[in-house]
Amino acid sequence: MNPSDLPGAPFLAYRDQQLFIEQLRLQDLAQQHGTPLFVYSKAGMLHALSAYQRAFAGRKAKVHYAMKANSSLGVLQVFAKAACGFDIVSAGELARVLAAGGQAKDVIFSGVGKTRAEMQLALQAGIACFNVESEAELDVLNEVALSLGKVAPVSIRVNPNVDPKTHPYISTGLKGNKFGIAHERTLQAYRHAASLPGLKVTGIDCHIGSQITTSEPYLDALDKVLDLVEQIESAGIPIHHLDFGGGLGINYNGDTPPAADALWATLLARLDARGFGDRQLMIEPGRSLVGNAGVCLSQVQFLKPGEQKNFCIIDAAMNDLPRPAMYEAYHQIVPLTLSDAATQVYDVVGPVCESGDWIGRDRALNVQASDTLAVLSAGAYCMSMASNYNTRGRPAEVLVDGNKAHVIRTRETVADQMRGECLV
Ligand SMILES: *Cc1c(COP(=O)(O)O)cnc(C)c1O
Repeated sequence: MNPSDLPGAPFLAYRDQQLFIEQLRLQDLAQQHGTPLFVYSKAGMLHALSAYQRAFAGRKAKVHYAMKANSSLGVLQVFAKAACGFDIVSAGELARVLAAGGQAKDVIFSGVGKTRAEMQLALQAGIACFNVESEAELDVLNEVALSLGKVAPVSIRVNPNVDPKTHPYISTGLKGNKFGIAHERTLQAYRHAASLPGLKVTGIDCHIGSQITTSEPYLDALDKVLDLVEQIESAGIPIHHLDFGGGLGINYNGDTPPAADALWATLLARLDARGFGDRQLMIEPGRSLVGNAGVCLSQVQFLKPGEQKNFCIIDAAMNDLPRPAMYEAYHQIVPLTLSDAATQVYDVVGPVCESGDWIGRDRALNVQASDTLAVLSAGAYCMSMASNYNTRGRPAEVLVDGNKAHVIRTRETVADQMRGECLV
């Protein structure tokens, strides 16, 4: 393996055959904190953010971290301190932003099913914008705002009907998706929004999917959104900001998405060419800010050779790392110590009682029971999707900053899990 190809490089790298994250040896972290353990590189996150910020230098633009990718307070704190805003999808996420030191004025609120209570909380907190996903939501938000004597800033999420060529579960901008308002109904929806006294139209947004690895779907969506903006503005409704969502992919297994700054250089050139270069811009990246900055360390429990398959049973499972079971996603799995010894092919699986509980299939590993492995590219959509299935406590999380390791979440105990339950 070429060391610069390791997902997470250069913040994740082998030195003298040992895997390090920033200045710390992962084997030491596994020993100190136990497994399964999520470990994140703060520099990795800030490096990813800075690629976007570089692209937008000198522009009116704001990055809103789509925090559902990883909503741990310590992670949010890193982004809040780096002048990043947040894209939330629930009132719970708003509470997390505020607890981590972020500000409501830097928050935008996406999601197809916001409740009245969530709208109220967000209006009272004073968020920057509601990304509205249906005509029915416009009416309810208007009512809630009027009842509070407030005016809700709104952007309408349009569905540009472009195919991001990604997994069907993470493509969101096609006609058959539940997200956004159809292209053809957009003008009508904006007219309706502009007529409601509890709403103030501020922008337009789209988000076409996730783990997108080429620029074309973005260019297509951008052109379609700009066509709509021209239509809407000709109808006398000014659009102050343009929000192009998130979705940029990361390296899981040799994936080569465009770098964020290169992608945005292309998109900004198109915006400039079409005369929209001086608009306020927003984006909502999630995975690309955190995905490659994290790993999950897991210890091998047993090796179980078989006639058809050899199994390597590790102490992390689908409840900790749901992406393989949910999307058949691929995560590289690597040893903490490199060696030249012969490998065997294993299915790497967890202890959960489901055949869907696999982490990697047909992996060549040189591994012994009680070795620790690193599951790579685990910073996004892992811990935030983790569950307690099989009454398994969710892992601890450590944020590494240079040669310091900060525990940002302690391992969940059985008592934590039973809190709130009672016998009849
Ligand atoms: C999930 C989501 C994002 C972030 O997507 P990534 O693929 O993680 O960048 C952005 N905007 C909205 C509306 C989302 O639902």
